[in-house]
Amino acid sequence: MTDKPYITIVIPVYNEEGNLHSLFDRLYPVMEKIAKPFEIIFTDDGSRDRSLAILKELAGKYPEVGVIEFNGNFGQHMAILAAFEKSSGEIVITLDADLQNPPEEIPKLVAKMEQGHDVVGSIRMKRRDTLFRRTASRLVNMVTRKMTGMQMSDYGCMLRAYNRNVIDNINRCREMTTFIPALAQTFAYNPCEVEVEHSERTEGESKYSLYRLVRLNFDLMTGFSVVPLQMFAFFGIITALFSLAFAVFLLIRRFIVGAEVEGVFTLFAILFFFIGITIFGIGIVGEYVGRVYQEVRKRPRYVIRRTHGFHE
Ligand code: UDP
Ligand code: MG
Repeated sequence: MTDKPYITIVIPVYNEEGNLHSLFDRLYPVMEKIAKPFEIIFTDDGSRDRSLAILKELAGKYPEVGVIEFNGNFGQHMAILAAFEKSSGEIVITLDADLQNPPEEIPKLVAKMEQGHDVVGSIRMKRRDTLFRRTASRLVNMVTRKMTGMQMSDYGCMLRAYNRNVIDNINRCREMTTFIPALAQTFAYNPCEVEVEHSERTEGESKYSLYRLVRLNFDLMTGFSVVPLQMFAFFGIITALFSLAFAVFLLIRRFIVGAEVEGVFTLFAILFFFIGITIFGIGIVGEYVGRVYQEVRKRPRYVIRRTHGFHE
């Protein structure tokens, strides 16, 4: 690798054989035009197609290219984190391998960084994805904004730039599941956003099925807030209060019109009151378990089999 790069490009790759050549052919000239030392780090996230072979070939041919080879599929965010740890640029830019984020937008992000921003996010101007994917994203963006209280327009767009300081802080985090744009946002003091183009996936298909999307969103929620647990406890309190009111109502009714069907509903009221308290209790326990869980996770987050193109 070239010494002391100014910009590091980080690209997670999972079964992208059809995209890698065209990606590189577009990315490389853009980087050369910026005329600053750069490195490009690909993480092969356990691809089962020819992706790794293509990446190795690139690493052999270009001194700027480094490849991290994972031992299996650890997910997009782990792939990015592994590359962050190997990165040394002052500015680190993440990019998808599927060419949905045009590499031509990179100078725009660099310019913003040079104005003194520490994180530059991006908003997809015209999103070119299926309706299902767009709706899912809109939902995620909304829920995430509410839960984490972070102001970010488009969490899903991975074309983002971070400065060295933010990257170093991310590298200090040891959590097992994470969502990088949100994690970076917690360390940013002067973030900004730019609008970027977005194009359709040309080769291969989206790696996110409905199931993986749901899992990713759980990561996002539990990783950055305890609001779900609090909501659970809150629901318990509400239930308890309502059934208490119901019990009082039944008591008064009993004196005015007499008992309802053999007191069955009174029993229900009392029962619901205790169910409410129970749910509340589980909520509190959950709160603690959640915190302990956050502390205990100490397994390695990913396993690197080999690296190519880095010389230490
Ligand atoms: N990716 C990865 N590991 C995975 C899933 C995806 O490294 O387990 C990479 C993938 O190769 C691509 C990026 O993450 O470079 C985004 O994936 P994709 O385009 O499938 O997501 P979408 O655009 O549908 O959100
Ligand atoms: Mg994509």
